[in-house]
Amino acid sequence: MRILVTGGAGFIGSHLTDRLMTEGHEVICIDNFYTGRKQNLLKWLNNPKFEIIRHDITEPIRLEVDQVYHLACPASPVHYQYNPIKTVKTNVMGTLNMLGLAKRVKARFLLASTSEVYGDPEVHPQTEDYRGNVNPIGIRSCYDEGKRIAETLAFDYHRENNVDIRVARIFNTYGPRMLENDGRVVSNFVVQALQGIPLTVYGEGKQTRSFCYVSDLVDGLIKLMNGEYIGPVNLGNPDEYTILELAQAVQNLINPNAEIKFEPLPADDPRRRRPDITMAKTRLNWDPTIPLQEGLKLTVDNFRERMNSK
Ligand code: NAD
Ligand code: UDP
Ligand code: UDP
Repeated sequence: MRILVTGGAGFIGSHLTDRLMTEGHEVICIDNFYTGRKQNLLKWLNNPKFEIIRHDITEPIRLEVDQVYHLACPASPVHYQYNPIKTVKTNVMGTLNMLGLAKRVKARFLLASTSEVYGDPEVHPQTEDYRGNVNPIGIRSCYDEGKRIAETLAFDYHRENNVDIRVARIFNTYGPRMLENDGRVVSNFVVQALQGIPLTVYGEGKQTRSFCYVSDLVDGLIKLMNGEYIGPVNLGNPDEYTILELAQAVQNLINPNAEIKFEPLPADDPRRRRPDITMAKTRLNWDPTIPLQEGLKLTVDNFRERMNSK
């Protein structure tokens, strides 16, 4: 198959591309390199079945493909809040363009949505039928409302134009290749511990997240794309940790004496988050397999390698 991956030079997109190339597909990546790096795709650059196009999805583009994995959008709060209007444009105009493309060439279209559509959830763990508690005018809105309208567009293209859609609601995912300056909690803690500077815990560190290792997530995306169920479906690891527990896990792996420094909690930071993955288990036969300890170790090894090679 010929497969388009938008955001293919990013963290999840490049791991997905690796898997699709290994399976023998032709892969075209589109990326504007805002938070993505060509480096992530280095091993494919000379492969005739691979192509990377520098392009911003807020502009139209015409390509002929069988499937579209639509991942282009900065995912870390630091990066999506840097230019929030651009984040909205990427989610609205970018998703519209990619749905227009999928409609024209009759490609199956998978949207990488997010657990952020649940906002600061009042239902715990979060099931797909929960409609969320999102602040429409806060500093996270460009991203979470952006993704909500992206889901709306996908379902309207499905109902109005018969576009064959799949919608994944991805929960916090981590692993090798996250940028050192990504700003998300796992990469921050790992980089800080390796540099011997204090780990920055926001608030009291009692807020929770559930962390999924990237290879598990990629499995889920591929199963969703190639199965019958259109979603939305939660993809995430249901093992829930407080941020303080995560800091301790990183300390244990890298440096038990690493200091912890408490910093103010950002506005609208969700207090807790854990996916109910019954739907993914039953409809996709998907279940994450890599526990936090193991995934963290692989991640730390990768960061260490990158930081030592500088
Ligand atoms: P990332 O920032 O590493 O990757 C996003 C990629 O999209 C980057 O390569 C970036 O350069 C590219 N991009 C951004 N705006 C673009 C534009 N206008 N045109 C073309 N390319 C553009 O983030 P990631 O963690 O790999 O996330 C990938 C997708 O998964 C995102 O849509 C994100 O919202 C979603 N997601 C990720 C997580 C997570 O924990 N990693 C959780 C929920 C949802
Ligand atoms: N589009 C695109 N590539 C394509 C087909 C469409 O980028 O191969 C864009 C198109 O420019 C438009 C958007 O997708 O801005 C929505 O397309 P659609 O055909 O649904 O709407 P229309 O063009 O009729 O407004
Ligand atoms: N966080 C933290 N220290 C950091 C970065 C993040 O304590 O250096 C906290 C953040 O406030 C949030 C959680 O970790 O409660 C997850 O943050 P991240 O930005 O990784 O993802 P998201 O908030 O989008 O789930």
